[in-house]
Amino acid sequence: MRYENYQSPWLDDELNILRDAAGKFFDQEFVPERERWLDQGEVDRDAWRRAGAAGLLCAEMPAEYGGGGGDYRHDTVIMEEFIRRGLAGWGNQVHSSIVAPYILHYGNEEQRRRWLPGMASGELVGAIAMTEPNTGSDLQSVRTTAIRDGDEYVINGAKTYITNGQHADIIVVVAKTDPNLGAKGISLIVVEAEREGFERGRNLKKLGLKSADTSELFFADCRVPVSNRLGDEEGRGFIQLMQQLPQERLSIAQAAIVSAERAIEITTEFVSERQAFGQRVLDFQNTRFKLAECKTEALIGRNFVDQCLMKLLKGELDPATASMAKYWCTEKQCSIIDECLQLHGGAGYMDEYEISRMYADARVQKIYGGTNEIMKELIGRTLG
Ligand SMILES: Cc1cc2nc3c(=O)[nH]c(=O)nc-3n(C[C@H](O)[C@H](O)[C@H](O)COP(=O)(O)OP(=O)(O)OC[C@H]3O[C@@H](n4cnc5c(N)ncnc54)[C@H](O)[C@@H]3O)c2cc1C
Repeated sequence: MRYENYQSPWLDDELNILRDAAGKFFDQEFVPERERWLDQGEVDRDAWRRAGAAGLLCAEMPAEYGGGGGDYRHDTVIMEEFIRRGLAGWGNQVHSSIVAPYILHYGNEEQRRRWLPGMASGELVGAIAMTEPNTGSDLQSVRTTAIRDGDEYVINGAKTYITNGQHADIIVVVAKTDPNLGAKGISLIVVEAEREGFERGRNLKKLGLKSADTSELFFADCRVPVSNRLGDEEGRGFIQLMQQLPQERLSIAQAAIVSAERAIEITTEFVSERQAFGQRVLDFQNTRFKLAECKTEALIGRNFVDQCLMKLLKGELDPATASMAKYWCTEKQCSIIDECLQLHGGAGYMDEYEISRMYADARVQKIYGGTNEIMKELIGRTLG
């Protein structure tokens, strides 16, 4: 959506060229497949390779590891373009903006060279497995263990709700290398999907994000070399997670704002066409007031996430501010989309109208990446 007098301060000509190229790619290659992907419950595996070939994966990874040589902004404009086209179910945010950065920041040179080029080309799809059947918010209580046996870790446990779970070739697993310790016993270990003892569960059916493969993952005496651990020492996993979560949360907040903007855009088009009582629905004062409120809130959110992005680029985005962005923007995404759906009348409830899908897709934004209740806990801790 265009605002009359506001442009994101971090955008430049190069990013606008990338945005246009990404938009064209998604229009030509992904949009025609979208309905089929929704029906089959996942994107085609080949979609990853096609996006990789077009330079749309791992845009923020250094070129020496096969990435785009950009920074977080580059993955952001790509994400904005696929979200705008109703492709929120494609797990590239997890792949490019979460999993690849873990390997870049905490992997050693050998690990980066082993995994990052494949992630950039789409040969390898990445996932991150934190959540378990018995624990999500309380990450310190994960029960999956990775017990050292010589030069190997033996991993046992189960994970659930894992994005890219069906397609993932490499999974960053949050496991206890010392089950007797809480947070200090956690390490991040990369498991390649072909390892014996690793098994994928079902592709879980869910309310929205219908083309996202979200799965259970199982580890039964799954052996991986100690050299698959991210970080020089054991027990650094919790700190690594805490360092990376602000970026993950900002990325969710940005997706929220783009979705809200898209909802306002399509709703404005709808109410400009739709007639009731002899006039356009847009001409009712209630419609204009509702859309005015939505547009104001979207612009406030846009300003906030832009500020957060610039802080992130400078390495200054603190966890509480990222939590504020994630919490507030996702609440606004849901409330704005709800208002927009209402303005569609019955059409808003029909799958064939984009707003209906957006409504279902939005709901999870308040849950994953840390629930909004947990966000408020983190913000609350700064109150003194
Ligand atoms: C579509 C989808 C994709 C996902 N993708 C991934 C993924 O790729 N990787 C991954 O690891 N996980 C993923 N998740 C899991 C997600 O991150 C968790 O569901 C989320 O963190 C919440 O954990 P939980 O489901 O165990 O809920 P619980 O932690 O059991 O929470 C239940 C309720 O209790 C509340 N609650 C818990 N603790 C507190 C507290 N201290 N104070 C107040 N309220 C509290 C919660 O806010 C929530 O309302 C995904 C989930 C979904 C739905």
